[in-house]
Amino acid sequence: MGSGTATMGQRNKKETHIRCRRCGRKSFNRKKGYCAACGFGKSSRMRKYSWSRKHRK
Ligand SMILES: [Zn+2]
Repeated sequence: MGSGTATMGQRNKKETHIRCRRCGRKSFNRKKGYCAACGFGKSSRMRKYSWSRKHRK
C-alpha cells in the first residue's frame, strides 16, 4: 500500500454527492437534495451557464 491518490479509495465516509439520475455525474447533493451539476431536484430544466463548459462536449 502506498500513499497519495491510491489511498483515496480506502476512505469510506459518508458521501455528500451521490450519482445523479439525470446527468450521471456524482454531483447529487444528498443533504440539499439536488444535483450541483445539472440542477436535478431543484429545477426541471438543466442547469446551464455560459461560464461553465462542463455541459458541452
Ligand atoms: Zn445531475
